[in-house]
Amino acid sequence: MSRHEPKGIRQEQFLDVVSRDEAEARFSRHLKLEPLGEEMVGLGECRGRVLARDVAARVDVPGFDRSNVDGFAVRAEDLVGARPDAPRRLALSGELLTPGVRPTRELKPGAATPIATGGMIPRGADAVVMIETTDPVGDAAVDVRQAIASGAAISSTGSDIAAGETVLRRGVVLASRDIALLAAIGESAVAVFRKPRVAILSTGDELVAPGAPIRPGQVFDSNGPMLAAAVAELGCAAIPLGIVGDDFQRMADMIDSALAAADVVLLSGGTSKGAGDVAYRAVERFSDPGVVVHGVALKPGKPLCLAVTQGKPVVILPGFPTSATFTFHEFVAPALRAFAGLPPLRRATRSARLPVKLKSEYGRTTYTLVSLAESADGGLVAYPMGKGSGAVTEFSLADGFFATPPGVEAVPAGAEVSVTLIGRAREPADLMMIGSHCVGLDMLISRLAREGLNVKVLSVGSTANATSPASI
Ligand code: AMP
Ligand code: MG
Repeated sequence: MSRHEPKGIRQEQFLDVVSRDEAEARFSRHLKLEPLGEEMVGLGECRGRVLARDVAARVDVPGFDRSNVDGFAVRAEDLVGARPDAPRRLALSGELLTPGVRPTRELKPGAATPIATGGMIPRGADAVVMIETTDPVGDAAVDVRQAIASGAAISSTGSDIAAGETVLRRGVVLASRDIALLAAIGESAVAVFRKPRVAILSTGDELVAPGAPIRPGQVFDSNGPMLAAAVAELGCAAIPLGIVGDDFQRMADMIDSALAAADVVLLSGGTSKGAGDVAYRAVERFSDPGVVVHGVALKPGKPLCLAVTQGKPVVILPGFPTSATFTFHEFVAPALRAFAGLPPLRRATRSARLPVKLKSEYGRTTYTLVSLAESADGGLVAYPMGKGSGAVTEFSLADGFFATPPGVEAVPAGAEVSVTLIGRAREPADLMMIGSHCVGLDMLISRLAREGLNVKVLSVGSTANATSPASI
């Protein structure tokens, strides 16, 4: 271990650095990656919830042979040869079939029954002629100007959904159209997976809640609100616990009460073992198995700490916002999806060309966040964001990322890279601006955006460049 390393240097803290895949394997080995339970919810509350069981229809839809038009229920054979210049006269049956009315008479040959859209087809009828192709003849008869095929303008019983048919499958995130389906088959409530409860705690003496006054040296807590939203996006219930300073006892108490209230505990910041980094020490208390990974050979995100106690994940994400976001999506989100009953995410990739040479860190899987633009030849160009893992904008403005394996030191300019898209697939930019930030340009870009143009800006200033060594 680290015994004979000089004390206090940063490398000492992560001697047990493992590969990305090993970290994932160790973490999942100690977790039961499955939904946490089910509950019944009414149609009014189920939007956005994850369906826990397949739903089979208990009824036919439509539940009866139904007219799709306003017109007359007829026997198609009575209208063979009907033409505008040779209409067929049919006698009205005396019934009027508006929706909800149950026919009492069988339709006799040579007869027609007025019927409205949604009306129930009477026995004996096998088609409906549209009112537009008919002419009334007094109160007792109608002339039909067109022949019609048997079954025309009728939706037969069960043709939409047959009783017994599975209409929705487990794992679906219920949206309005699914709710329409459930309502149409008469279900008033459905079984959904219980939302995993995820406690979120930002750690650090320097952190201030957004909206509160800030002094020099302090930073707004962006990881906390980001994680609360990210967790909600994954169908979980966030329990935001705010900010705790670098105080061992307070942090330990907070973690203990978070464990009592939640299924997952997420901390950010303080993952190192250095002075002032208290979160790691507060998590190090657990031994069932407690910390399973501390230090992953990836960039950004090296100081990630993965622990499990009482069967619950306790994760300390790196404090740097991009590192926190990245490691959350790489290591925590898949577990949360499993707990929430969501299928694994299949992220889309796009092939793009790297316009600049990119230095990579030998020995670590390096992820480079990029912004995509279309090149003159119709392909895609991947511009590295170039701000490093300490930047909030690095992740929030990126279209995707590509990974460079641990054994690679540099990626040459012009290389093809496979970009994994993040978030909602953003369109490649119509116009890409790279350079120093400018307020005037901002106004211009807002104006272009209102007109529907997709303009992306990489405000890299004059100092940043894609090969600058990003921090942890
Ligand atoms: P740490 O992991 O505690 O060493 O923090 C690394 C860096 O991330 C420091 O610059 C912190 O100020 C910053 N940081 C830590 N937590 C947060 C947070 N919740 N929101 C924004 N920045 C943070
Ligand atoms: Mg800190």
